[in-house]
Parts: sequence; C-alpha cells; structure tokens
Amino acid sequence: MGLKVAKFGGSSVADGIQLTKTKQIIEADPDRRYIVVSAPGKRFDGDSKITDLLYLCKTHADHNLPYDQLFQVVADRFMAVQMNLDIDINLHAHFDAIKENLGKGCTPDYIASRGEYLNAVLIAAFLGYDFVDTEGLIQFDSKGRLKQKETDEALREELLKHERAVLPGFYGSMPNGDIKTFSRGGSDVTGSLVARAVGAEMYENWTDVSGFLMADPRIVKNPKPIHKISYLELRELSYMGASVLHEDAIFPARAANIPINIRNTNKPEDPGTIITAEPDAENTNVITGIAGSKDFTVIALYKNMLAGERGFIRRILSVLEDFDMSIEHVPTGIDTLSIVLSNKTLDGRLDEVVDAIQKQVNPDSIETFEDMAMIATVGHGMSRRPGTSATLFTALANADVNIRMIDQGSSELNIIVGVQNKDFDKAIKAIYEAFV
Ligand code: ASP
Repeated sequence: MGLKVAKFGGSSVADGIQLTKTKQIIEADPDRRYIVVSAPGKRFDGDSKITDLLYLCKTHADHNLPYDQLFQVVADRFMAVQMNLDIDINLHAHFDAIKENLGKGCTPDYIASRGEYLNAVLIAAFLGYDFVDTEGLIQFDSKGRLKQKETDEALREELLKHERAVLPGFYGSMPNGDIKTFSRGGSDVTGSLVARAVGAEMYENWTDVSGFLMADPRIVKNPKPIHKISYLELRELSYMGASVLHEDAIFPARAANIPINIRNTNKPEDPGTIITAEPDAENTNVITGIAGSKDFTVIALYKNMLAGERGFIRRILSVLEDFDMSIEHVPTGIDTLSIVLSNKTLDGRLDEVVDAIQKQVNPDSIETFEDMAMIATVGHGMSRRPGTSATLFTALANADVNIRMIDQGSSELNIIVGVQNKDFDKAIKAIYEAFV
C-alpha cells in the first residue's frame, strides 16, 4: 500500500492514555509515515485545551497580570505525559524559551502555536520519529494568506529527507518570520497540506468520533453513519454546520485527489467516513446527509416584472457588498427575490440594510423574516431519483412545518429549505424519517 498521512486531533493526544492508543494506531500500519498533531485537547468535560490556556497566558501578559502559574499548568501537562510514558526528552529549554518570548510581548499566534510545537517535539520522541517544524515550510504572505505553491514545494522537499516524521499542526510563518496560525481547528488543514505535498494515498484524520453521521445525533436518535461521502457533498453539509473537519482541510487533499478518512482513536476498528472525489457508486440511498443551522434572516423583495429589469440583482448585491456582508443564498422567482443572511453577519443592522436596498432598487415591497433556520438535504442520489423534492416537502407538510424558502443547487446535489427556528428539530427529524 502507499503512503499515509495521519493527523491526530486534540482529544487523541490529550494525555498519556490517549497517546498510547495513538502510538498503537501508528505502529499498526507502517504506511503511516507522516504524523501531524494538534495541541493536547480536553481530557474530560470541563477540562481546558492547551491552546486556550496559552491564549489566556497571552491575555494575562498583555494586561500585566502574572501568568507564571498559568504557564506552569501548561508545562505540567506536557511533563506529566513525558513522565507517565517515560519519554526520553527534556522540555525545559523549550518552556524557558516560550516564557521568555511571552515576557517580551510575543504575538498571540506565536503563543497559540506552542501547544502544537511542544506536542510534536514530545510525540516525535515517543515514537522515535523525526521532528519536522512547519515554521518556514507552511508559508503565508504578509497579509496572512497561505502561499499554496511555495508551501507544497517546501514541505515536499523537506519531507523527502525524512522517512518518518511528526509535524506540528495549526501554524506556519510569514515572510518576516512571524508565526501565523490557521483559524481554530486548523491542524486539519496542516494534515491535508502535508498529504498533498507527499502525494499520500490517504489522509487519515483521527478524532473522537467514527466519522460523519447522516444527521445530528442530538436531534435524530441513532442516525446512521456515513461510510462514504464526496468532497462536494461534504462541502454542502459542512457549510451548514457539521463540525468534524475544518472546512478548509478539504481543498488541498481534493486538489491532489487524495481521499480523507475520518477515524476514531477510541474505536480504531470502526472504518469511519471516507471522503472522496467521486460519489459512492454503491450507495443506494437517495440522500447522504442532512445538516442545518439556525438564526438566519430572509429579506424577501417583490417587484413587478423583476425578471425583465436589467441590473436588479447586481444592485442589490452591491448594497450588501457595501455593508461587507456575505450572502448565504439568493433564491429567485419571476417577480421575487430573497436574500438569506446569517444573523451573525447582519449583526443587528437589518433596518439599515433594508433601507439601503429600498433606496437602491425601489421594490414594490420588502418583507423580512427573522429567526429562520436553513436545512440542507444533500446527496448525489437525489438527481437520479425523481420525486425527491416531493418526498421532502410532503414529509415537512405532514410534520406541520411551514417552508418559507426553497433553494435547489443547480447540481441537484442539495435542497435547502428555510423554516422557522422553532421548527428546526422537527423538520430535520421529518426529513430523516422520510428518506432513511
Ligand atoms: N490547537 C488548535 C485549536 O485548538 C488547532 C487544532 O487543534 O487543530 O484550535
């Protein structure tokens, strides 16, 4: 078999017990040659993630509050693992350097990145693998944008020199040498970049769940697992709120056609979910999954002969651009057009936006619906099966859910419905029961 890149998330590397499982997983397959690790995550409910503690140290330092004890909590967690597993390494020099930089006013990205850094140093020693720092390899421009090509080349060139290596997730550096992190959960992105650079056959993402489920288990009882999902389907689902994988982690692997396998460190026997370029040919299900999110606002415009009017949509979009607001959906009809925005994006400025639209395009009427939820029903199977939307709408009607908005992607990969927040759970249950 070919080469595998395995990324282990915070909970998989949270303490000695978890690290022992991680080591067993890595050693069970010699193809797992490049390992990307997160900082230690929570060991139990109510515990703190190392990354959060590090940010907290920085906040204390910025406010001239003592941070020694807090930093000691961080250091102690690494030392406990080192002693528990009897790892032959001394981390004190690293702790001292970090504390010194903290005192000198380091950046938040630098301090946050140290959780991954220390963990990778420790785990490399534990496994007997080389430690390869991603600083200088994962490259950002001065505006903080990832330099894809340079990163790809630098990672490839460096990793060719190492048969087996552990790399810290989450960060790289900018042209001036400053550390720059991805957004939270960004070690997934590092893993994907490494997989692409080394031309991995598989990118394994080890976490604490056995992959994706067809619906949120807090809403649907025992939803079925998704064994295979295409990148496109996952985009539609993750966009609506699935949170197992950082959404930017899909792109590098996808560009190189590398499947991503989500696996559970606590249940390594579970096959997990495989994310691939092609839809699963053997899947006879009409839908692959359902996901949704609450708290959107729909601004519905009505104007006679709207479809014939030049520049109408452009002018509306320019209003939202002026407000620097991104739009979720724009379903249209002959004389109607709706704009869906998340309430977070609107940030209490709905009246201002409506006024500006009114001035710009002078519609016959504008109605707004707040407290809306969007639900995406996703699956390549939907295009093959006539009557999918009928099944969906009948299920919602039978559950007494009023649909305020419908948007179907042109790829026939998804149907998105807008319902009231209060009907969110009921609607998801009804759709699940109708299709699964
Ligand atoms: N440690 C970072 C975070 O907590 C990155 C990661 O775990 O992927 O967000």
